[in-house]
Amino acid sequence: MRVLVIGAGPAGTRCAERLAGRAAVTLVGAEAALPYDRVALGRVLSGEAGSAALITHDARRLRDLGIRYRAATRIVALDRDAGLARTAKGEAISFDRAVIATGSEAVRLKLPGADLPGVFVYRSMADVQAIRRAAAGGGRAAVIGGGLLGLEAAAALSATGMRVTVVHPLGWPMERQLDPAAGALLARQLGATRGLRFAMPAVTEAIEGEAHVTGVRLADGGRIDCDLVVMAVGVRPAVALAREAGLTVARGIVVDDVMRSSDPRILAIGECAEHRGQVCGLVAPARAMAEVAAATLVGDGARYAPRPDPAALKVSGIAVWSAGEVAPPDAEAVLLSDEEAGRYRRLWLRQGRLVGALLYGDTGDAPFYLDLIASGREVAPFRARLPFGAAYRDAA
Ligand SMILES: Cc1cc2nc3c(=O)[nH]c(=O)nc-3n(C[C@H](O)[C@H](O)[C@H](O)COP(=O)(O)OP(=O)(O)OC[C@H]3O[C@@H](n4cnc5c(N)ncnc54)[C@H](O)[C@@H]3O)c2cc1C
Repeated sequence: MRVLVIGAGPAGTRCAERLAGRAAVTLVGAEAALPYDRVALGRVLSGEAGSAALITHDARRLRDLGIRYRAATRIVALDRDAGLARTAKGEAISFDRAVIATGSEAVRLKLPGADLPGVFVYRSMADVQAIRRAAAGGGRAAVIGGGLLGLEAAAALSATGMRVTVVHPLGWPMERQLDPAAGALLARQLGATRGLRFAMPAVTEAIEGEAHVTGVRLADGGRIDCDLVVMAVGVRPAVALAREAGLTVARGIVVDDVMRSSDPRILAIGECAEHRGQVCGLVAPARAMAEVAAATLVGDGARYAPRPDPAALKVSGIAVWSAGEVAPPDAEAVLLSDEEAGRYRRLWLRQGRLVGALLYGDTGDAPFYLDLIASGREVAPFRARLPFGAAYRDAA
């Protein structure tokens, strides 16, 4: 069986790896690089690591696995009945089964000035290399978006010596993972330890400059002078190829529990896939889908069962983690706050079960809470001790 895996991000690469030896696998990736660890791009942006350090599969490893890898190869059309994929260079690649793992694209706000030189998104190695070149002269940066990625980009840019302002439309950063109190703690700590400034709540109205970006204009009339802008305002699943091929696409490519699209010969995995109405945005579920797709193709049988996705900020010295539902309106909240120790925990319970957890300052108990959320176990018997973590669960 010839399997074509389209997209060499973590999902596509994992799937190709699992199929190796059991199918004739071709892995194609639009990016020029060998498969790399996208999650660690911040280390390249900050200068802590070179791009080579992020390569996860070098040419030799891919060859030893028997995977035919083609970098800088974008698939632009799929003829499902003929089993043919066409590349941007006009070549045809034939397949018996295809796995679409095209991931996501970073959203670029359609603002006046958004196409000026000096305005970047933060998704790929090429983006990071371009940002680093622009940051080489130092100066000021504005990061639009105070979510996980925006804050990581801001901290990395500040490590290069830039003065960084984060522009965020809500009153606190990382609102999808943090409640306002933890968000305020985080903003304060990032200000104190990384020198980050926050314009919050603030909406970007335009990016200003003639031949190059010189500033960001805010809706309230304010202006932030800057020499470069990074937009970190979210991603959207890369579904154009699947849509053109006539597959069912909602927000992502609609798949069943075994990762089959509306055409059982074509599977979809990772951030481009939509499973039971959900599109994932983290690497663990993307890889879990890859495992299931490989099992489906070789007939091993496995089903994808989503877990609550934990999220953590990768800025050294700052421990913040959350999982499950954050601040759902119909849940009861349990709070532990020790301002002096810089420790804050908020847990959300519904019908005696933990449905969400947020840890700030000390995230050592993250696996304990994640397990409780995932298992849906009753926590009522030790509810009073719950915020103190695993060590206190069984204490008298
Ligand atoms: C800076 C950064 C930090 C992150 N940090 C974390 C983190 O800490 N924890 C976490 O869980 N997640 C993190 N993520 C998210 C994580 O990287 C993604 O969830 C993961 O990469 C998704 O994997 P994927 O294989 O589905 O898609 P992608 O990684 O997007 O890979 C898809 C690949 O397919 C290629 N492609 C697209 N279209 C085509 C085509 N037509 N033909 C050929 N190739 C194509 C793309 O170029 C890309 O290389 C981070 C993301 C970024 C950008």
